[in-house]
Amino acid sequence: MVILAKNAGFCFGVKRAVDAVEAHIGENIVTLGPLIHNRDVVRSLEERGVACIERVEDAPEGATVVIRSHGAAPEVYEALKARGIAYIDATCPFVKRIHERVRAATEAGQRVIIVGEKGHPEVIGTIGWTGSGAFVVNSEEEIAALPHMDEAVVVAQTTITQEKWEHILAALESRVDHIIPFMSICSATQQRQKEAAEIAKIADTIIVVGGRQSSNTRKLYELCRKSCKNVYHIEHKSELLLEKMHLGDIIGIVAGASTPDTMIREVFDYMMENEKALQAEGEGIPSQETAASDMADIAAVAQMTEEVSADKEPDVALDPTLKETVEATADTANEQVVSEATATDAVETAQAENDTPAKQDEKNEFLEGLEKVVRLKKGQIVKGNIVQITDEDVCVNIGYKSDGIIPKSELSIHDINPKDVYNIGDEIEAEVINLNDGEGNILLSRKRVEKKLNWLKIQQNVGTDILYKCVVKKAVKGGVTTKIEGYNAFIPASQLSLKYVEDLKQFEGQELEVTLIDADKKQERLVASHKTVLLKEKKEKEKALWESFKKGDRVKGVVKRLTDFGAFVDIGGVDGLLHISDMAWVRVKHPSDVVSEGQEMELVILNVEPSKKKIALGYKQLLPKPWDLVPEKYHAGDIVRGKVVRIVPFGAFVQLEPTVDGLIHISQVSNRRLDRVEDELRIGDEVEAKVLEVNADKRKISLSRRALLPVEERPAKKANFENEEDFHYELPPVQESTVSLAEFFPKKDD
Ligand code: SF4
Repeated sequence: MVILAKNAGFCFGVKRAVDAVEAHIGENIVTLGPLIHNRDVVRSLEERGVACIERVEDAPEGATVVIRSHGAAPEVYEALKARGIAYIDATCPFVKRIHERVRAATEAGQRVIIVGEKGHPEVIGTIGWTGSGAFVVNSEEEIAALPHMDEAVVVAQTTITQEKWEHILAALESRVDHIIPFMSICSATQQRQKEAAEIAKIADTIIVVGGRQSSNTRKLYELCRKSCKNVYHIEHKSELLLEKMHLGDIIGIVAGASTPDTMIREVFDYMMENEKALQAEGEGIPSQETAASDMADIAAVAQMTEEVSADKEPDVALDPTLKETVEATADTANEQVVSEATATDAVETAQAENDTPAKQDEKNEFLEGLEKVVRLKKGQIVKGNIVQITDEDVCVNIGYKSDGIIPKSELSIHDINPKDVYNIGDEIEAEVINLNDGEGNILLSRKRVEKKLNWLKIQQNVGTDILYKCVVKKAVKGGVTTKIEGYNAFIPASQLSLKYVEDLKQFEGQELEVTLIDADKKQERLVASHKTVLLKEKKEKEKALWESFKKGDRVKGVVKRLTDFGAFVDIGGVDGLLHISDMAWVRVKHPSDVVSEGQEMELVILNVEPSKKKIALGYKQLLPKPWDLVPEKYHAGDIVRGKVVRIVPFGAFVQLEPTVDGLIHISQVSNRRLDRVEDELRIGDEVEAKVLEVNADKRKISLSRRALLPVEERPAKKANFENEEDFHYELPPVQESTVSLAEFFPKKDD
């Protein structure tokens, strides 16, 4: 028997991309990278004029570039726009969803981890949307090499297996304190993998059809290998090893998302021919050629396989003779697998052999019903129209021999009155819970459908920012329990608060806002986090706070910590740095000379960098500059004292106060003519001088020591003076220094 998976062949995203290209065949169109991981398809496109380029720069003049379903990094779009190249974006929406998530994470300052294959084009594109880069992990070894992280958003390559995702997430807990999972395996992949795993459980041989470059095809191969010993990955039917297959074997055919239907069909036909050939050789096993000869029938076989393996006991009151024959035939075919056609054939055989014409009519009528009813099974979802409403139940015509009944208790997850919510003629979907309620009706449940829909919806919200309210029921080991949307939920202790929680009981009865971080499908149990909500609130507050800071604003703060290079000051939830050079106008040896821990002070914001979370503060900028006070403090005629701090050929600089120096010109140093200032003054000498002129704008204070020297200290008459003139040494007039002091003073306020 050959079973072909229903979900074989192009997935939604690949089909979309291929259709986009097919619609433009004959035009000047190229694909950026192979459109899909299938050599035959790529070759066929090339033959029809669709070339594959590796870089945007390689696009021919006037060509339209197709971005494939794997997506691309933002730089690719920018390069296309910059070069004025038209493009068709065939990025799969499932992949786009990941781009959006990692972009948002990056904007929020969160690290991103991608679970997937490093060189895969989808992963490369996704990394591009993180801007600053992302970690890509695919094994425990790669996880071990990660740095420790406080928090990280974790996304999945769309085609990895659920098992790998769960395994990697668990292993990441050793490297990341707070994991924000974003389950991004696409539903097409999940369905394909689930079905492949189911078929692999019952098949003797599995043939996986698809490109060897195709990641999702390789994953199918790995998955099938877990349940089936004989799994072959082929790209073409010519690779099939027919000698390994025997009549009576159940052969499963699964295919990757980039495998064209024609290729799958070829393999399927080939296998069917092989089966016929084996029968002809007469290996002695009855023909199982009940599988239909076209794809639609094969899909039906697969459907039946699924149904029967899920629920082997038909809840149908079969004629005992027929039932026996059906079961016997089914058993001969396979213990687990029975096809609709097999059952029908068996019934017909029984009719032909045993029945009178009247009985045959009766059974034909029964068979009509059987054809329909046999398709129903417990758990199946059926659709129908409401034909009757009472206070106790709703009767639904589901197009089968018997109507379906939905009792009030099964009508909704909410307590409703049937007549208030439904009208005759309304269409309704419900789940079969019993094929015979005792009165020949099929018992249905709308409530279960609502629960399933709710569960699907809730699963989609796992890893998102969607908030749920819940009341904590009980503190248990490692966390607390609660109910979310009617489902049991667990909040781990580490997800309750931003700090370590000693006593979990304090949360009992508290209403919390939470997000969903995981969902256990089997147990329909959720794992939630209140910490994500607190973190988000904290970040929003911080963001608002950062946005409120403006350069030049005055802020009040408290000194939290001193370092050698400055002080960190809390200015209301954010620590800014007051650098040592911005503490005072004079040189500060250590921050503790100006500030101390716990000191409250007013500061000015010198610079804000919200993205780097850096804020520079200034203190001295709020203080007057020493030279600004000079006009008030020093006037011509004042007597001042200071220390000689520097001697130059034209005079001596005297420090009147830190950063304020005055100049005594060489002519004003002494009463006598000096060749060198050093003949009268030394660095470090304390001197008294008279202020001759103050020019604060030019930062000049001219001083005269000579003006204060008593007359008798003026130089004595030179010996051997020959006449009166020699006695009177003509001193140069007191004049302003023409030297720019700025050349000699460091610019401390620039
Ligand atoms: S495998 Fe999924 S994500 Fe990838 S193209 Fe197909 S539908 Fe889209």
